[in-house]
Amino acid sequence: MIPELRKKQFEKEGYRVVGNHSVVKVCEYTKKALRAEDVCYKCTFYGIRSWRCVEMSPTYFCDHRCMFCWRDIKYVYPKWNGPVDEPDEIIDGCIAAWQGLLNGFKGSEKTVQSRFDETRTPSHFAISLTGEPTMYPKLPELIDALHRRNISSFLVTNGTIPEMIEKLIDHQPTQLYVSLYGPNEKIYRRTANPITEDAWQRLQKTLSMLGKFKRSVIRLTLTKGWNMSEPEAYGELLKNVDFDFLECKGYMWVGHSQERLMLENSPRHEEVVEFAKQIGKTAGLKIVDEKENSRVCMLMKEDSADRVMTFAEPKQFKILEEKQAPEYLT
Ligand code: SF4
Repeated sequence: MIPELRKKQFEKEGYRVVGNHSVVKVCEYTKKALRAEDVCYKCTFYGIRSWRCVEMSPTYFCDHRCMFCWRDIKYVYPKWNGPVDEPDEIIDGCIAAWQGLLNGFKGSEKTVQSRFDETRTPSHFAISLTGEPTMYPKLPELIDALHRRNISSFLVTNGTIPEMIEKLIDHQPTQLYVSLYGPNEKIYRRTANPITEDAWQRLQKTLSMLGKFKRSVIRLTLTKGWNMSEPEAYGELLKNVDFDFLECKGYMWVGHSQERLMLENSPRHEEVVEFAKQIGKTAGLKIVDEKENSRVCMLMKEDSADRVMTFAEPKQFKILEEKQAPEYLT
């Protein structure tokens, strides 16, 4: 159950609480996409419709207290506690709350009305808003329920619950993201402050299962002075992991992270690209796409980079849309 104080804080920060333990919010890029100002890098890289994306989480607490996290990191628990809501209730509740938050866009001259109309049928769930989603005991059922509704799912995890990752092998999200906060245990613990002793070992177990997923991404949130060092060590670690995409994203000085870090800890885009190239040299990866204003670049293994050309490039995206777009991306 979400404590009353946290509920009030969530509401004040523009979130909506759904049931006992879920939260939803309208992403800034959903708003920009509705005004045709911009889309998010998951749109340019993977074809996600930012204006039809519901950003949510079935878990409001985490087991990490990452220095760079834009959320309030006070609410940490090592495992699930409290009632467990049903997946369809969570999905219905999140969609209704999300559409409610978008009402202000209806009829606004700045809004692309055709896109607003498409928000009536969201096509994507970003299960990444807050907390550690893999703690939610019915996560496999939630993902199955989304796909039954032709809604794609990107799941972001810090990898500390390998038991759930194992269960998800038979209930795969459209794309599984595993966050890697350091090239070794020392830097990882200093940056992510996990509340469990064996967090690093559990993360390694999760990384060892990635090859069993249709689409997997390892994401680095690079924070100067904390985990943006030893690119070769990142490369050595990644050499032994079977994943599809590596995202190197620069830390952004926003939200509650401003209480812990300085603007100087936020790298410029060119610094992120240079660091990514160093990792790529060691791990045999090459940059296949980037988005400057999100300070992010995407890498793939040298020998499979060509495959992405049919996925990511916006112009390719255009072709994708007409000919090949999977049902739930249309
Ligand atoms: S995929 Fe992520 S960044 Fe893009 S619109 Fe959805 S929540 Fe926002």
